[in-house]
Amino acid sequence: MNRPLVEMDNVSKSFGGFTAVESINLNISEGEFLAIMGSSGCGKTTTLRMLAGLDQPTQGEIRLNGERINELSTWARDTPLVWQNLALFPFLSVTENVEFGLRMRGVPKAERRQRAGQWLDRMGLAEFVNRDIGQLSGGQRQRVALARSLVTEPPILLLDEPLSALDANLKVRMQGVLTELQKEIGITFVYVTHSHSEAFAMADRVVIMSEGRIEQVGTPQEIYSTPCNRFVAEFIGGKNIIEGKVAEIANDIILVKSDHGMFETSRMAGERVSAGDPVTLYVGAEDIRLTASCEEGRNRQRCRVIGEEFVGAMMTIYLQTETGLELQAQIPYAGRAALPMEDGRWVRVSWDTQATHVLGARI
Ligand code: ATP
Repeated sequence: MNRPLVEMDNVSKSFGGFTAVESINLNISEGEFLAIMGSSGCGKTTTLRMLAGLDQPTQGEIRLNGERINELSTWARDTPLVWQNLALFPFLSVTENVEFGLRMRGVPKAERRQRAGQWLDRMGLAEFVNRDIGQLSGGQRQRVALARSLVTEPPILLLDEPLSALDANLKVRMQGVLTELQKEIGITFVYVTHSHSEAFAMADRVVIMSEGRIEQVGTPQEIYSTPCNRFVAEFIGGKNIIEGKVAEIANDIILVKSDHGMFETSRMAGERVSAGDPVTLYVGAEDIRLTASCEEGRNRQRCRVIGEEFVGAMMTIYLQTETGLELQAQIPYAGRAALPMEDGRWVRVSWDTQATHVLGARI
């Protein structure tokens, strides 16, 4: 396997007595689009600042292409960071802003102009080269900031909520610009965001952080279908969480008894649970089936429909069992008309053994 572009080994950052980032282990591959998410203050920006060279780790090692970079200055490591407020120089023209990094590296003027011009062309900004920054729209400024960061051809681009100041339409357009650009030039993006839709739509892998630690790293699909613990399940908006106790384990099937009935899940390799242990089960909303009738049994419930919501081409159906357990199912919008309901309100809900996951404890 190829060596990762970035390796963070046991990296921590403290400010005085406060630990903002605690013992992070994270490898980032070449050409990967990695999103970092988590609640406010969980250490996302601090992680990015350490990669950018704006903060030094208090403990651990960061390597870029196998070389330790903990002590390398921002300029020496070439890991530019694009901020939410873009930090463009208002007293310089568009071209001068884009050239800035090359000027700092002593690149001769003619070459600077040519390389800046190429990037401005690529970003669709050729007609604005002599404009002042203040005469540009939000989206244009965004593209200038990207051109300024990419003109030095860095191996990695760090982005800290770059789209959060834009309106909804422009945000979606810029998401397209960013993902296309990243695939086209093939460089690594590390992208901090609060927006689930942004992270899950754009990233190859998503990192979920909480209180300075990494809770889970995985593809969007892995995180949605198998969140590793209750924090991650709730963070991604998952609602189908059931507390119970292991009643029996037989043939790698874990039988769980809860106040809401009996549930079953298959035991994963390495999973260590025994009869009597408390467990938390999770089922993805897309794994819940709604039918007119089904036999009584495990992973089956009679539910009342308590709400419905359109999410693009999909619908979220809000359900409640007779014992008060709230569940959510996600079904294609087209399937809604055919949804079988008793008295217009009751449906049968079921899901597969393999779709039931045991959530782990937080580390
Ligand atoms: P947000 O989503 O709100 O931007 P974040 O996840 O990016 O948050 P960080 O900016 O990394 O969070 O901050 C993590 C924690 O470290 C916060 O509690 C913050 O107050 C603290 N912190 C960050 N920088 C400093 C500093 N220079 N001095 C002291 N504490 C700091």
